[in-house]
Amino acid sequence: MNSEFLFDKSLYQFEKPQLSWWEATSDKNIKLDAKSLQSQEKCDIAIIGGGYTGLSSAYHLAKEFNIEVRVLEAGHIGWGASGRNGGFCCPGGTPINAERQIKQFGLDETKKFYQSQIDAVELVREILETENIDAQVQGYGEMTVAEKPSHYKALQEECDFNRGQLGIDCQMISQDEFRETHYDAPHQHGAFIQNPAFGLHPLRYCQGLAKAAERHGAILHSHSRIINWHKQGAKHVLETDAGSLTADKVIVACNGFMPENLKPEFAARAMPLQSQIIVTRPLSDDELAAHKWKSTTPAINSRNVYFYYRMLPENRLMIGGRADFKGSVEGAIKTRNKLHHSIKRLWPEWRYIDIEYDWRGFVCFTSKLRPSIGRLPDDPSIYFGFGYHGNGVNNATWAGREIARWIGTRNDTNNPLPTHLPKLVQGITPKFPLPALRPLYAKLGVGWHQFKDMID
Ligand SMILES: Cc1cc2nc3c(=O)[nH]c(=O)nc-3n(C[C@H](O)[C@H](O)[C@H](O)COP(=O)(O)OP(=O)(O)OC[C@H]3O[C@@H](n4cnc5c(N)ncnc54)[C@H](O)[C@@H]3O)c2cc1C
Repeated sequence: MNSEFLFDKSLYQFEKPQLSWWEATSDKNIKLDAKSLQSQEKCDIAIIGGGYTGLSSAYHLAKEFNIEVRVLEAGHIGWGASGRNGGFCCPGGTPINAERQIKQFGLDETKKFYQSQIDAVELVREILETENIDAQVQGYGEMTVAEKPSHYKALQEECDFNRGQLGIDCQMISQDEFRETHYDAPHQHGAFIQNPAFGLHPLRYCQGLAKAAERHGAILHSHSRIINWHKQGAKHVLETDAGSLTADKVIVACNGFMPENLKPEFAARAMPLQSQIIVTRPLSDDELAAHKWKSTTPAINSRNVYFYYRMLPENRLMIGGRADFKGSVEGAIKTRNKLHHSIKRLWPEWRYIDIEYDWRGFVCFTSKLRPSIGRLPDDPSIYFGFGYHGNGVNNATWAGREIARWIGTRNDTNNPLPTHLPKLVQGITPKFPLPALRPLYAKLGVGWHQFKDMID
């Protein structure tokens, strides 16, 4: 049997919330805990994982189809990546660029995929509005800030290509204009900006989505980790240490926290990769002025191994990036220092600013480098959505809705592929060969991109 988890056990302490800025500023009117599962229960659809994928599935199943659905979450609601990400709600979901997508899938499928990304951002916006969720939306678009003049040129080409071939709403901002509208720093040489995109408070969004799902009839259980899953006839039985849930169908919504030993079919499919975030103390007006800072738009820098950053409410700078490949506490301290060093490099006037929060979690890659949505070929009563490649705020919400609609409207077929969705996301991703080596594969991949950055 596979061991349950791939990384250091400090990353799987389900009872411990992260000491994140999001936890510190969560919506105190909405409880993060729901009643844990403590008896033998039944429902139509059981969902494993209480992040955006699971909650959006539950929300749409209950709201649009009045289906009896329960969510089982090992930690508190939003304990996983959904409650601790950078809050960039923007298109993405794959590191495969548009040119390669067109070569592999053709122009129409690539356009369909990009449209799904845009729809996904708009879906989050619509849920925030219709369910009245106070997720502290910020900024307009997502920026890639050129670190060098040559990067600006490459971004300009990407912008022209994406606008011309795919009709994407993007534009370039010159260095001078960027200085006036966003900020100034030695490493800014203008930027590429793409829409639709915005920043949000990820945990508040998760809380609001959970509350809305409950309002529409879904039942949520936090602190209800599934430790055993078997079948009784056609039914699925999911067991926690205190209760069990019997259901006709199961949705697996665990992304980077995928348990490797619950169902062999899901072992070795996901490649969790650590991402870590630090947040500074509030910056004073004078400190902001030192870099002419006036932007709340989410941004990344133009390296292959990039940082993502935003100015949060209270004028706290958030910056995140790739962490180590073991997941130890010592590794997290080193990454915190590296991220702090990158603040000093990118914004030298802020080199003395203290860090008040840091935390980490998993994004999820797949062997085909794109999201994986479908049902198991050997058991079409099991659905899944995962592998958003660090872009789950919109993607996971959208995947959850699409799984719910698939279940609610297409009962007639056992087809494992959601053929109505873009080809890029259809079906189960192949298992990684020699799966214990996944952290090494990730290390080699990141190392290669770091090398390219170094010689650039
Ligand atoms: C530091 C960081 C920064 C990120 N930044 C961004 C960003 O800015 N924008 C963006 O779009 N994406 C970002 N992401 C990625 C994004 O957060 C994820 O893609 C998204 O949250 C995935 O949602 P999910 O519901 O599929 O998985 P998760 O939110 O990870 O939820 C999976 C849940 O499954 C639960 N689970 C696991 N095993 C069991 C079990 N046996 N029983 C019950 N429950 C179980 C876990 O407890 C977990 O809560 C970031 C991720 C991280 C870690």
